[in-house]
Amino acid sequence: MNEKAIIECQGLTRHYQMGEVTVEALRGLDLRINRGELVVLLGPSGSGKTTTLNLFGGLDRATGGQILFEGQDITQYDDGRLTDYRRSKVGLIFQFFNLIPSLTASENVEFALTLSKNNGRLEEEAIKLLDLVGLKERANHFPSQLSGGEQQRVAIVRALANQPPLLLCDEPTGNLDVGSGRRVLGVIQDFQ
Ligand code: ADP
Ligand code: MG
Repeated sequence: MNEKAIIECQGLTRHYQMGEVTVEALRGLDLRINRGELVVLLGPSGSGKTTTLNLFGGLDRATGGQILFEGQDITQYDDGRLTDYRRSKVGLIFQFFNLIPSLTASENVEFALTLSKNNGRLEEEAIKLLDLVGLKERANHFPSQLSGGEQQRVAIVRALANQPPLLLCDEPTGNLDVGSGRRVLGVIQDFQ
């Protein structure tokens, strides 16, 4: 294990069996990401970026290889331990925001705080976090009442609410105009 690594993988494979055909989404990936490092995965559609993020985030299971988070091989975790890992160690941001539509901006953030068994003053904390991304006034609005860029800023706040050591973003600006995309990237960088 490398001391500086927050997450690293060795020989990581993910195969999908589609009837007779085996799709090799990942074929022996070796990658190391150090603590505090901002790494961007670039590659054409279908090259395995989402697969890699889903495996690192504990949303999917590898076919082979190792994923070491702070030196611990998460591929060996049972489902319960993997869920704990996902909740306590990882923030996830997706292209389509994935906010819960029936909850307001503030409630979406409060929900994340609840999952980490944080028993503090949830609403106050959520609004304080939304204020950091310029959305205090929108705290009681539902996702459908927010622009794409605003929804993604809520999603970032939600992902970072529990101060996870690892933040994984899958095309976080892919569904935004250039200006909103820049702002979202700025917010992610500010939280580093
Ligand atoms: P990217 O995010 O770089 O566009 P993906 O990780 O989504 O790439 O996909 C990598 C490869 O795995 C692609 O060939 C894709 O078709 C395949 N793949 C992804 N998910 C599935 C699945 N659930 N079933 C079968 N094949 C899949
Ligand atoms: Mg993808």
